[in-house]
Amino acid sequence: WEGLEGKVAVVTGAASGIGAASARRLSALGARVVAVDVDADGVHGVVAGLPGPGLAVPGDVSREEDVRRYAQRAVEEFGRLDLHHLNAGIVGSFAPLPELTADDFDHVLGVNLRGAFLGVREAFRRYRTQDGGGAIVLTASIASLRGSHDLLPYQASKHGVLGVLRGAAMYGGPLGVRVNAVAPGLVPTGLFSDAAAAAGGGDDMLRRGTTVPLRRTGTPDEIASVVVFLLSDDAAYVHGEVISADGGSAIV
Ligand code: NAD
Repeated sequence: WEGLEGKVAVVTGAASGIGAASARRLSALGARVVAVDVDADGVHGVVAGLPGPGLAVPGDVSREEDVRRYAQRAVEEFGRLDLHHLNAGIVGSFAPLPELTADDFDHVLGVNLRGAFLGVREAFRRYRTQDGGGAIVLTASIASLRGSHDLLPYQASKHGVLGVLRGAAMYGGPLGVRVNAVAPGLVPTGLFSDAAAAAGGGDDMLRRGTTVPLRRTGTPDEIASVVVFLLSDDAAYVHGEVISADGGSAIV
């Protein structure tokens, strides 16, 4: 992909799964990567393994001061901020709807939705002090597009991410800042196995791949490939869009 060489790219949720794959791909294409995650050891480990320059910033995307700090650290280290993959997320409780607590709901919305808002807001605050341009990709989900019988807070948060996407895209378009989202389907990652274990059915979650039209689950790298495209100049006229990477699940 064109236009990534030398760019400074923030990736949140970069310690594992899709975020780690995105950090590696961006780095391999010449971007300087600022990797953010609550998992401090994990994010340092990912940065140590990058092929190019990187900076690990432990932090929680739902906390305003942490979001401000990673942006500040990025500018101190690399002088500017160009690209954002706002990807950190959690699934929360698999409890049936009547058993869900307001705390479950607030926690999931706090990371997935408030985190997306804070990340987008900080990106625009930084972009307005620079010489124009910028691109943002949010990690949405197939749960942004469809209903299912469980994980209501997760679904609500990921539907909300599309609201953040569209609001930010309307604001960013005239400024030349592109904002898009990727909507992954089933990808076996830490998120996936933790959620599966909490639901008491790891194998079951994996077997769900058999309902995917492509008849398999995806890989983090297959999602990162869409992210990198959306952040690159090859996607110069793609804006306010949600691209599914789900093996066809959204059409079922
Ligand atoms: P993952 O658990 O491997 O990665 C998520 C990362 O986010 C972890 O490293 C975790 O430590 C970090 N994180 C969690 N809370 C955070 C916080 N408050 N601040 C900073 N970092 C935090 O899972 P993944 O599958 O790679 O998930 C990445 C994104 O993809 C999430 O937004 C998730 O909702 C989305 N997604 C995943 C799937 C899937 O099947 N794996 C499907 C659709 C969407």
